[in-house]
Amino acid sequence: TAQTEDVLRLENVTKQFGSVTAVDDLSFTVHEGEILGFIGPNGAGKSTTFDCVSGTFPPTSGTITYRGEDVTGRPQHALVQKGIARTYQTFRPLNDRTVLENIALSQVPDSLFSLSDFRADTEERAREICERVGLEQYASQRPDELPHAGLLRLEVGRALGTDPDLLLVDEPFAGLTSDEVDRTTELFRSLREDGMTLVVIDHNMHGLLDLVDRVIVISFGEKIADGTPAEIRNDPAVQEAYLGG
Ligand code: ADP
Ligand code: MG
Repeated sequence: TAQTEDVLRLENVTKQFGSVTAVDDLSFTVHEGEILGFIGPNGAGKSTTFDCVSGTFPPTSGTITYRGEDVTGRPQHALVQKGIARTYQTFRPLNDRTVLENIALSQVPDSLFSLSDFRADTEERAREICERVGLEQYASQRPDELPHAGLLRLEVGRALGTDPDLLLVDEPFAGLTSDEVDRTTELFRSLREDGMTLVVIDHNMHGLLDLVDRVIVISFGEKIADGTPAEIRNDPAVQEAYLGG
């Protein structure tokens, strides 16, 4: 059924940086319409996995399949066009543009970074996204005037600008208050209700387990658990990875 169709499949994905194996023979699938948690201690290889999936660089070996198509090693712009968007742990807004422009510019290729190329529907869509991520009151301000939680929502807004089917979010809860975590959780749930599939990274389990349908846990680049939040909470290997690491 559509519910269990694989959106994304990683098979034996390995990424080496010189002698460092950041991702080690990692295999997992992401199902249509789910919110998947992707957790592991700092340095476990979470962001590197997103880099491979989103086309920042190819994996050293292994296969990445998106909706049945082998997309291993495809460049980021091609993957964005297919519907894969990601956020970065270190925010990357254009600081000389307004919040609204940042979101609007995410909808057009880099080569067209000129506001004169904007069409009316681009701006209208950017305003919708701005409201969606709760930044309407900041629309004409610069990113450096935003509070931390606002920058995070801008990062999500820029990803939404590319109209993704699969949204990869890297550590969205870092540095948020519990109210801001709740608000971010609400946003992710509403995106899923609109039909999006989400993979959400966190380096700890708290906050994330209430949001997600399923969790993959990695440690030293390897998958050590794959299950429901309840299964993960009580998994000895997971506790060991966090306490013993
Ligand atoms: P996580 O996101 O789970 O905290 P990362 O994927 O950022 O972990 O990093 C995994 C491992 O790969 C770490 O040992 C890190 O130092 C290393 N690493 C990540 N990116 C690079 C890089 N560009 N060059 C060399 N080593 C890297
Ligand atoms: Mg990371």
